[in-house]
Amino acid sequence: MRFDPENHRKNPIFTLFRGGLDGNFAGKRTGNRQTLSLRAIAFTITTVQPEKSSPIILAENLTKVYAAGRIPVTAVRGVSLAVEPGEFVAIVGPSGSGKSTLFYLLGGLTQATKGRVVIDGVDFASLSDAERTRLRKHRIGFVFQKFNLLPTLSAMGNIEIAHAVSGSVINGKKAPLDRAYLDHLSEMLAIKGRLDHRPSELSGGEQQRVAIARAMITRPAIVLADEPTGNLDTKSSDAVLHMLLRSNQELGQTTLMITHNPEAASIASRILYMRDGEIVREEKGSRPGFAVPAASAVTGPATAAV
Ligand code: ADP
Repeated sequence: MRFDPENHRKNPIFTLFRGGLDGNFAGKRTGNRQTLSLRAIAFTITTVQPEKSSPIILAENLTKVYAAGRIPVTAVRGVSLAVEPGEFVAIVGPSGSGKSTLFYLLGGLTQATKGRVVIDGVDFASLSDAERTRLRKHRIGFVFQKFNLLPTLSAMGNIEIAHAVSGSVINGKKAPLDRAYLDHLSEMLAIKGRLDHRPSELSGGEQQRVAIARAMITRPAIVLADEPTGNLDTKSSDAVLHMLLRSNQELGQTTLMITHNPEAASIASRILYMRDGEIVREEKGSRPGFAVPAASAVTGPATAAV
C-alpha cells in the first residue's frame, strides 16, 4: 500500500473525525435538496433517487489522478461498483493496482478527480467538509492495516474514545456508551480479558480485534477494512478474518475489505479484482469450510494471544 495521506496525520484515525485528507471538498449541488437527520444531527444534503435496487455503496465512473509529481499518476480509472446492504465484498489486486486509493475514495477520505460516490443515497460531493465528516462518523467504521490504536490508552480507552468523538446523541443528549453492546462485541471478538491492557501489551491479532471493536462501537452501517491482515501471521490473520465475517453476519454491517491476498479475499461473498486502476474481473468467494464459528473455536483457550 503506497497511499501517502499527504503527510497530514500521525494517526489516520483522527482524520476520520475531521475533514478528511483533502482539505477542500467542494462539490456541485444538484438534485433534490432536503434536510435529513442522522442520529439527531440535522444538515442539508442532496439525495439521489434510488433506481431499481438501493445499493448502500455506489461508485460511478470514479477516477483519481495524483498530480503532485511531474508526471500525473492515474491510480483509479473509471471504476463503477454497487454494494448491496449486508454484502461482504473484497477488493483484491497486486500492489499499486489502486486498491487503497479506491478505499480512500469510498470512505470519503479523498476527493475523486471524476465520478461520484453515493453512500446510502447521499452523494459525498454534495456535502461540506463538516457534513462529510459527520456522515463518515455515523455510517462508516474503518479498520486499517496498522491498527492505529492510541498507545497511551488501554484497549477499553481506545474503544471509549471512538464512542466519545462520534458524538452520538439520544433525545438531544450525549449518548452513553452502551455497555451491554460493548460486552457483546468484546465477547464476539474474544478481547474481553484484554480490555485493560495497552496496545503494546497485546499481540498483533488482539490489537486488530480491538481496532475492529473500536470501528463497531458506533454501530456503523458500513465497515471499510484496508489490508486488515497485512501485518499479521497466518493464524492471527485467520482469526481476524473470522471476526470480520462474524460481525458482518451477526451485526449485519456491509463490509468492504481491501487485500492483496486472494486467500483472505475468498471469505467474501463477492470478490472484485483490480489491476492498473480498473476492476477487471468479479467472482464469488468460496473458501471451503470458512464458516462463522463460535468465538472459542477461533481463538482457542481464553489466554491464547492470537
Ligand atoms: P495499492 O493499494 O493497490 O497498492 P495504491 O492506491 O496505493 O495501490 O496506488 C495506486 C497508484 O497510485 C500507484 O502507482 C501509486 O504509486 C500511486 N499513488 C498512491 N498514492 C499516491 C500519492 N499520494 N501521490 C502520488 N501517487 C500515489
